[in-house]
Amino acid sequence: MPSERTDRIRKLLADLVGFDTVSDKSNLALVGYVEDYLAGFGITARRITDDTGQKAALWVTIGPADTPGIVLSAHTDVVPVTGQDWSADPFTLVERDGRLYGRGAADMKGFVAVCLAMVPEVARAKLATPIHLALSYDEEVGCVGVRPLLDEINKLSVKPLACLVGEPTLMQVAIGHKGKHALRAIFRGLASHSALAPQGVNAVEHAADLITEVRRRAREIAAHGTRDELYEVAHTTMLSSVIHGGTALNIVPDSCELQFEVRGLGVHEAKQLTSEIVAWAKSEIEPAMRRGHPDSGIEFEDILDYPALDMAADHPLVTFAKTLAGRNDNIKVSFGTEAGLYVAMADIPTVVIGPGSITQAHKPDEFIAIAELERCAEMIERLIAQCEKADGLEALRRA
Ligand SMILES: [Zn+2]
Repeated sequence: MPSERTDRIRKLLADLVGFDTVSDKSNLALVGYVEDYLAGFGITARRITDDTGQKAALWVTIGPADTPGIVLSAHTDVVPVTGQDWSADPFTLVERDGRLYGRGAADMKGFVAVCLAMVPEVARAKLATPIHLALSYDEEVGCVGVRPLLDEINKLSVKPLACLVGEPTLMQVAIGHKGKHALRAIFRGLASHSALAPQGVNAVEHAADLITEVRRRAREIAAHGTRDELYEVAHTTMLSSVIHGGTALNIVPDSCELQFEVRGLGVHEAKQLTSEIVAWAKSEIEPAMRRGHPDSGIEFEDILDYPALDMAADHPLVTFAKTLAGRNDNIKVSFGTEAGLYVAMADIPTVVIGPGSITQAHKPDEFIAIAELERCAEMIERLIAQCEKADGLEALRRA
């Protein structure tokens, strides 16, 4: 590994980490930086700005635009640092013992830095198959910003062949992740003095009925549901996680808000299971509340929703990714990514493979090993070599 390339990666990662792109902030400064960097190699990026004008995705094509290409996909946003005990400024990259520390180092500015560092090599190559960069925003708040980008990709006359999402997998090929649907249930009851409890509609107790049912279904699925042993937790899960209700001991509570989620194995399973829970609550809980007072009831709001990734282990992309990774196994990951949306929204075969470990993500003193970044650069080097061959991606084209 030439150390000059490692220096390039380190410098780019330091710059990227320096942009505070926590999901609730604008990412435009980072986007402008990437545009300027690419312009230095004569590459124009297409900017897709959101309705607020404060966030943008980037779509980049290097190589022949009239040929289906390979997408390298990443998100530019990071999770917050508030309340976390960092030993140094999270937005200043620090090197220690072969590791680079900073917010987003692993999730996933490290991958972005490697992709950018390889741009000179990509630009120099005689590519038969183009390489795309796709940078999104608002991934950490429910894979939001990749959706308008995928809408644009769907309008292209030439659709990409395949996509690699560079979330941290320690450079292993991940062919699946669960889908997730999270909901907020707002219970509206009727207040009364607790001494006259039967005259009120107790929102907290009705919410408890839903919690009990979610737990009952979760146990049923854990005991008898479909299993996929490639996952750390082999079955679909569901749980209630946040509850707020009541104001005083002597008042029957008239409101209660409950958040719950399903993480499903099947591509759209999470959403299907939540709609069954909603239907159950509407038919089993709400009528009882309405008997107490006609204005009582439950409202449900989506919090976030993304489909599962479920690539067949024998798909040509999986074989191709294994060749790039230089290994012959595949995994499934516990965390959600944009990969499921690439398949579900745009029908683009996608796997997850990237440097660093998810166990370092979202934590104080997040870091990535420099060796991981170098392995990722080597993977992109192999990708470039495949994309230079006229028949390098033949199996993918036939898929
Ligand atoms: Zn991520």
